[in-house]
Amino acid sequence: MRRTETKSLVLLRHHLKVLRLPTVAAECEKTAARCAADNVDHLGYLLQLLELELLDREKRSAERRLKAARFPTIKTLDTFDFTARPSVNKMLVAELARCEYIDKRENVLLIGNPGTGKSHLATALAAEACAKGYRVRFFRTTELVTALIEARDERTFLRLKSQLAKLDLLVLDELGYVPASKVGAELLFDVISTAYERTSLIVTSNLPFESWTEVLGSERLTGATLDRLTHRCKIIETRGESYRLKDAKARTARTTTGQSATASTKAAATPLDETPDAG
Ligand code: ADP
Ligand code: MG
Repeated sequence: MRRTETKSLVLLRHHLKVLRLPTVAAECEKTAARCAADNVDHLGYLLQLLELELLDREKRSAERRLKAARFPTIKTLDTFDFTARPSVNKMLVAELARCEYIDKRENVLLIGNPGTGKSHLATALAAEACAKGYRVRFFRTTELVTALIEARDERTFLRLKSQLAKLDLLVLDELGYVPASKVGAELLFDVISTAYERTSLIVTSNLPFESWTEVLGSERLTGATLDRLTHRCKIIETRGESYRLKDAKARTARTTTGQSATASTKAAATPLDETPDAG
């Protein structure tokens, strides 16, 4: 009897491996024992196992999507202090977190000075999209332009373009931080116009629209780019002082008023000395 059990277990594991059901394989014995103790029938047992597999599968693919998005840092909406940035409409951000704009192929533009939370919000919104099953990729704009220029004459160019075409959401962070070359600007325009009404874009920039010509070089290209980007888009302006600077100042102020002087001085030194993240 024991021998048959072992043999069927080995076979079962094999079948589950072929069928790619790792969680069922890992949990079937434990769940069987629990169901026997709880008097759960066969169908109930099967249901419990498949639910475990589904939950795990969803978790694994969310992790894969998050990894594939290549966020430089993970940021969440929970950690965004909306009271520190009153120009940001909290309701709008909450609406965007539901990701309906992606189904409607709309864009999000985040405009504001360096350190005002643009990349934070862009990353947090894109991470929400990953969690909801959308395919996302985050790029510093210069990084993408460089990759496109490097790949231009090769088959890798088409591969990169087809990877971009498969996305639901493309984040272009720090557009305008570094002016693009003529070729770079055209390649960037090509990405933006290919995405138009097919892939949603989240674009962050420290430049107001009227200065985009400085980045893209020509009035014509700037006009055409803005036309595509801003047709059906939500704009979030992160007005005000840099969060890092404000944070550092608040800490310094606490120090000078004498609250736990040593600890605060140390804390305040870090953000001020830190090289600001670009854009
Ligand atoms: P930007 O992209 O506009 O230059 P970042 O999003 O990189 O700014 O913000 C700079 C730093 O300050 C990041 O570590 C970010 O998490 C933090 N930060 C900015 N704004 C806020 C905020 N309102 N609440 C919490 N953290 C913030
Ligand atoms: Mg940034």
